[in-house]
Amino acid sequence: MSEVMHGACLCGGITFDLGGAEVMGACHCTRCQRWTGSGNSMVIVAKPEGLKITKGKELMKTFHEEGFSDRFFCSQCGSPTAAGAKFCGQCGHRLETA
Ligand SMILES: [Zn+2]
Ligand SMILES: [Zn+2]
Repeated sequence: MSEVMHGACLCGGITFDLGGAEVMGACHCTRCQRWTGSGNSMVIVAKPEGLKITKGKELMKTFHEEGFSDRFFCSQCGSPTAAGAKFCGQCGHRLETA
């Protein structure tokens, strides 16, 4: 998956390019089910530097809960746009849950 993908939220206020995708799949955890209002979320895993917000950065809001990945969404239409995970710089172990 070396190509750059282009995406947008429902209202089009936020647009983004994503490069360097490593894995694509579905997450069925309870948090992702609540986040999307469905049985799973389709996720593309990439390094943070691969994500470039090309429009509407000011519309992007964060849902933060201690011990979990930050979830980003459009403040205009509510679309989930991204989630951030933290990894240990030394061993690469994921430091929080979804
Ligand atoms: Zn939007
Ligand atoms: Zn999940």
